[in-house]
Amino acid sequence: QKAFDVQAIRRDFPILSQQVNGKPLVYLDNGASAQKPRSVLDAMDRYYREMHSNVHRGAHTLGDRATAAFEGARETVRSFLNAGSTREIIWTKGTTEAINLVANGLAPKLKAGDEILVSHMEHHANIVPWQMIAERTGAKVVPIHVTPAGELDLESFDRLLSDRTRVLAITHVSNVLGTINPVNELVGKAKARGVITLLDGAQAVPHFQPDVQALDCDFYVFSSHKLFGPTGIGVLYGKAALLEDMPPYQGGGEMIERVSFERTTWNVLPYKFEAGTPAIAEAVGLGAAIDYLNGLDRPAMEAAENALMVRANQLVETVPGMSIIGTAKQKVPVMSFKIEGLHPSDVGTLLDQQGIAIRTGHHCAMPLMDFYGVPGTARASFAFYNTLDEVEQLFTALQKIQRLFA
Ligand code: PMP
Repeated sequence: QKAFDVQAIRRDFPILSQQVNGKPLVYLDNGASAQKPRSVLDAMDRYYREMHSNVHRGAHTLGDRATAAFEGARETVRSFLNAGSTREIIWTKGTTEAINLVANGLAPKLKAGDEILVSHMEHHANIVPWQMIAERTGAKVVPIHVTPAGELDLESFDRLLSDRTRVLAITHVSNVLGTINPVNELVGKAKARGVITLLDGAQAVPHFQPDVQALDCDFYVFSSHKLFGPTGIGVLYGKAALLEDMPPYQGGGEMIERVSFERTTWNVLPYKFEAGTPAIAEAVGLGAAIDYLNGLDRPAMEAAENALMVRANQLVETVPGMSIIGTAKQKVPVMSFKIEGLHPSDVGTLLDQQGIAIRTGHHCAMPLMDFYGVPGTARASFAFYNTLDEVEQLFTALQKIQRLFA
């Protein structure tokens, strides 16, 4: 394993060594989408140069190579999540499609009066699909409260978890606050009542590796592009028994066993949920991203990320009027903030002029913005390739912006 040398790691990410607006790029928008190491770009390039063909058609050598690469990536994902079988790993377009797939698949189990428990800190991707299913079935979407510090209110959870609850769909890590939710405890309590559980891992997997068997959740979903892989692909892990029991999401090629005008039957898992030609090169790219992460010293990487957060927290008081939204005890390095007298979008624009990329706005979490009574926040989200020097640069820039514009 490579020692954790952040400068060496940065050289693996070609996009990072460029100037933006005449300044060295400081990329702190990893929560929206992360950058890709050269090994991912190379794997996708090599796939197209040497082995591209459609998969699972089996009549020729290129087809076999493409299928081997594609299914090899599925095995890499299985191992990353510690799932029991590749039958439980379904390719989707991303987190959003994975949640829509599960919501639609569970619809036949839902009826009027049933409740789907989500939280007040969910991304819209883990609210709207459930609302759409609720509309169809008469079920109700119920949010667990959040505390001012940005932690789940566990008393509210205990109160809301009831005989009416059918589904618990909750984020592992908040994209706005960085809060790591106590998902073991939540899943344990839900399972004790026979509630189906889904964890949105979109913001968790870039920072630590989940173990779906230890978590014992029914579904776990994430997007490749936030995990240093390509856009256009994501993962749904689901327990085989539940997936077997769910109707397909889309119809078409690949997902069938036999088609006739009288009767069509479904393919086995995971293919039943993979209608049409899949995102093959993207699967290969995601596999390469996980291989890259597996080559890093993970504990050292997590310690380095934590050091970024600690330094950022120390520097907050150097910017008059700056405050952090989301001060949970368990956090990944994500910092939502506001500065008195400045609109978040202006902060974003002024930072961009200095080559610093952050995200501003509602972060697809409008209910959470309403809870905090803000139209949006500015959010700096760090990855393992960010440096302490970049944290200093962010704060030097914020001090200047505050002095000149607040
Ligand atoms: N859930 C969370 C917690 C997220 O942060 C995101 C992306 N911002 C999503 C879901 C949606 O992911 P995607 O747009 O890749 O489908």
